[in-house]
Amino acid sequence: MSRARILILNAALGPLDYRVPPGMHVEPGSIVIAPLGPRQLLGVAWEPDRMPSDAEVGDNRLRNLLAVADAPPLGAALRRLVEWTASYYLAPPAAVVRMALASTSALEGARTITEYRATGEVPTRLTPQREQALERIGDRQGLIRELASVAEVSDAVIRGLVKIGALEPVAVDIDSPYPVPDPAFGAPTLSPEQQAAAATLIAGVAARAFAPTLLDGVTGSGKTEVYFEAIAEAIRTRRQTLVLLPEIALTEPFLRRFHDRFGCDPVPWHSGLRSSQRRRAWRALASGAALVTVGARSALFLPYRNLGLIVVDEAHETSFKQEEGVHYHARDVAVMRGKFEGCPVILASATPAIETRQQVALGNYAELQLPARFGGAQMPTIEAIDLIEHPPERGRWLAPKLVAAIETTLAKGEQSLLFLNRRGYAPLTLCRTCGHRFQCPNCTAWMVEHRLTRRLACHHCGHIEPTPRVCPECQGEDTLVACGPGVERIADEVTALFPNAKTAIVTSDTIWSPAKAAEFVARMEARDIDIVVGTQLVTKGYHFPNLTLVGVVDADLGLEGGDLRAAERTFQQIRQVSGRAGRGEKPGHVFIQTHSPKAQVMQALITGDADAFYTAETDARRDAGAPPFGRYAAIVVSSEDQPAAHEIAIAIGRSAPRIDGMAVYGPAPAPLAMLRGRHRYRLLVHARRALDVQDVIRDWLRAVEWPSKVRVTVDVDPYNF
Ligand code: ADP
Ligand code: ZN
Repeated sequence: MSRARILILNAALGPLDYRVPPGMHVEPGSIVIAPLGPRQLLGVAWEPDRMPSDAEVGDNRLRNLLAVADAPPLGAALRRLVEWTASYYLAPPAAVVRMALASTSALEGARTITEYRATGEVPTRLTPQREQALERIGDRQGLIRELASVAEVSDAVIRGLVKIGALEPVAVDIDSPYPVPDPAFGAPTLSPEQQAAAATLIAGVAARAFAPTLLDGVTGSGKTEVYFEAIAEAIRTRRQTLVLLPEIALTEPFLRRFHDRFGCDPVPWHSGLRSSQRRRAWRALASGAALVTVGARSALFLPYRNLGLIVVDEAHETSFKQEEGVHYHARDVAVMRGKFEGCPVILASATPAIETRQQVALGNYAELQLPARFGGAQMPTIEAIDLIEHPPERGRWLAPKLVAAIETTLAKGEQSLLFLNRRGYAPLTLCRTCGHRFQCPNCTAWMVEHRLTRRLACHHCGHIEPTPRVCPECQGEDTLVACGPGVERIADEVTALFPNAKTAIVTSDTIWSPAKAAEFVARMEARDIDIVVGTQLVTKGYHFPNLTLVGVVDADLGLEGGDLRAAERTFQQIRQVSGRAGRGEKPGHVFIQTHSPKAQVMQALITGDADAFYTAETDARRDAGAPPFGRYAAIVVSSEDQPAAHEIAIAIGRSAPRIDGMAVYGPAPAPLAMLRGRHRYRLLVHARRALDVQDVIRDWLRAVEWPSKVRVTVDVDPYNF
């Protein structure tokens, strides 16, 4: 009689035991279909001694497994990663393994699936609904339900369009192979510095052993070309590479560079993929046929057949920190995956995180430096504009000096970038008569005015409403005033100042797909844009040789709030955006508008002395016992029922263990006291490094009970506090 322990894809349940019927082959990692009550769920077989079962069930009461999926078993390295992630981040193993099976539909039988796309032949008489649906679908292709969701109509409307011939079926073969990248295709001539770094990385790939390396080079130093050489080595030896990028909008420029270097695209993985693309990619990387995958953080848990290299580009980016579901940091999990797989991990950054620098200092990570820009390009000059001494004109946000610099840049036919990390027109809208402010009904946050779409939007939950013309409180007409600037408002100012210049706004509102990013790049290269006004989306990845001026509209913005990483993040962000200036032959200039030009972070930016800044920050962290010298964990208690959340938060606080080297603060309302309609309280745990804080929290929470309307989540190594 054969018994198997199965991790069922249901986060509320632990592993369960099943009977393996005669003739069925199940080994650790096998993806199986198991009965649960009346349902059939996917699950993964696990070593029983590594995953204690929730319920001890006698042999005679076991249910039979139903089937083994037509897919390779999850490998041992990935299974160890799942265990580590679940344990370190205090997450249910099923929630982690779900990310590995991201495309459960990849396991279904059909190898060909039918998608639909417009035929271009539009019948003369269409209902308004069908007409609008066709317009929204445009040149997209997808399943009926995908097109229905794009067009915001029912499936029946899409089927109707198929029936009348406006949409046609297209067969997609999900087992059709991907092209194999050619390591010799566009090999560049490396500079001696690049060559030295590349040689070390290539040797690392050839050694087939775990080795984390920080590739630390200033913006424009040619880091990408260097780690491409390591990828080329992996391709030559037919092993797989995973490249993690922080932002989906970054993938397009990356894909293009990859194509130039290797003659074809890598396999992309991100949340914007259609289900057929997902299925095809999953199968190809699980079989080992897809040699290079480029993806967002979720690509980290996929079942690569033989991973030979992991690259985390822009490794300092805070967007690698996942803030929903399983709270993990993709940079740290990437290093762990490399450890379990026994392969090198390259962290590339011009502004490495203090945590990463500390690993280098401890000797845990190697470091390769590229201290100069490639091809003799100079680093830009950086100058602060003191907003107190040289303020903008009344009702404006750009100081005269910055305006003059834009004018000069325009006159030379070069491009400018104005950076402000705030989407929309204004962060706060209020009524000038009665003082009414617009607050999100679901969150403790102000609604942000977006003039381009004439809407108020909550940037936390996505709630939107039309901008009213009349104040809902006092019924005053046209009394609403915008307070403070967002990128749209800066763009308005630029247009008023330079009516003949071509201005573009670059935010997640305007660049929401790789195609949009490609369009933006093309327009920049064709010099169809003179002035870009953008958020952090434009601070990285892009290379525009004709862009010579960068203006930071409000350098103090990120310093508000007193977050532990505020200074570090401000430094990184402004260094990155400065790095967009003067990447070609023409010299770049950066102006930083600030109210406190004497602040340490501003001085470090101006002098370019990164080491001094990092040393001071690191010392301050050490003194405070803050990461990486101590650690934090946040316990967030939330519920739609405020008293219930509060009560449980207090109960958890009361049962906090007294442990040497650990302090518990709170409960207090979380930084966003209400989010998506849930009231949130937070306890902050501060512990010394050596303490196994996960173990402590696990035992502590096990002793407290709460009703199902209350949710308790733990965020280990939290950001944003
Ligand atoms: P980083 O990633 O360090 O910011 P990039 O890799 O984007 O730098 O390189 C900056 C620019 O220099 C890019 O346009 C890149 O194509 C170019 N470049 C870098 N190395 C080489 C090389 N060896 N030969 C030709 N062009 C290079
Ligand atoms: Zn909201």
